Amino acid sequence: MTLIPLQTKADDSWQQQLRDAIRSPAELAAALGLEPSRLGFSAQADDDFAMKVPRAFVGRMQPGDADDPLLRQVLAGSAENAPHPGYSDDPVGETGAANPVPGIIHKYHGRLLMTVASGCAVNCRYCFRRHFPYGENQLSRREWQDAIAYIRADTSITEVILSGGDPLVARDDTLSALMDALAAVPHVTTLRIHTRLPVVIPDRVTPGLLRAICRPGIATVMVLHSNHPNEVDTTVAAAAGRLREAGVTLLNQSVLLTGVNDSADTLSRLSSALFGAGVLPYYVHLLDRVRGAAHFAVDETRARELVGELAVRCPGYFVPRLVRESSGEGSKRELTPRYPY
Ligand SMILES: *Cc1c(COP(=O)(O)O)cnc(C)c1O
Ligand code: SF4
Repeated sequence: MTLIPLQTKADDSWQQQLRDAIRSPAELAAALGLEPSRLGFSAQADDDFAMKVPRAFVGRMQPGDADDPLLRQVLAGSAENAPHPGYSDDPVGETGAANPVPGIIHKYHGRLLMTVASGCAVNCRYCFRRHFPYGENQLSRREWQDAIAYIRADTSITEVILSGGDPLVARDDTLSALMDALAAVPHVTTLRIHTRLPVVIPDRVTPGLLRAICRPGIATVMVLHSNHPNEVDTTVAAAAGRLREAGVTLLNQSVLLTGVNDSADTLSRLSSALFGAGVLPYYVHLLDRVRGAAHFAVDETRARELVGELAVRCPGYFVPRLVRESSGEGSKRELTPRYPY
């Protein structure tokens, strides 16, 4: 019999940090030593998708820099309000036929997404789920059982991916119960967690979390989400180290964003910082065309050039696959250039 120690107080500090996230422009400006007027905050954008950013993440922004690449990802700014044709509320078609039972998005062979939490620790302005009806995907106990039954009934499903909202917003006991249920399904061999929490609140990676998400006989893969090298500081590297020690395979996905990471130099420094933390780059996504995010778009030709430049400068395992989400196809569409391009 193994003794499971009680969760300590320090183990819970991430929940306090979640509640303490900065939501007001005045507080954000003060934390950065900026005049509030220099932030470029827009109340209309904030009404559309509320601003929320944990202090641990704000702490990695450059004080006094209104153009900081981390700030740009989280600030509700006036650029979001301009209408752009082709930018919609559900750009990747997640609310239609791909949503067979509440909480499940099944688009690709062998793997599906399951939403276990309705919110995130941070609200990223470019997020394709910024208008997603999370309220309708809050699972009741009954719906939760239906979701597990759906997975159990389809023996082609070998991998269950917990995805956004951010699954690590859920409590350890919720994740643990889910893991128990999945471990009891013989054809499920891999649990994958897509999360930004270990980046924005590294204290989320507690002994209790590691116990909840690691099970003998199931491989646990975690795909982190970071976009800029300044996000990956020593606290994030330490959190990644704890995950690796528990046997979790660590990957990263990014979104290519104008004014944040649209240079080969920044992308190569990001890969290098991730590698230093024991994390390999997996995907770099072209922006999904979600309303409010058009100012972040990098066009496909430029994106291919950037990734091509990265491939020339860096070892192959530093180069993420360039992908675009596409409705109605069998997988994400890969656009990574092949040399010579
Ligand atoms: C991205 C995604 C997956 C996982 O795809 P991989 O190529 O295996 O990373 C699965 N389902 C949906 C709906 C996705 O968007
Ligand atoms: S789902 Fe991911 S990208 Fe979207 S707001 Fe949450 S953490 Fe940010």
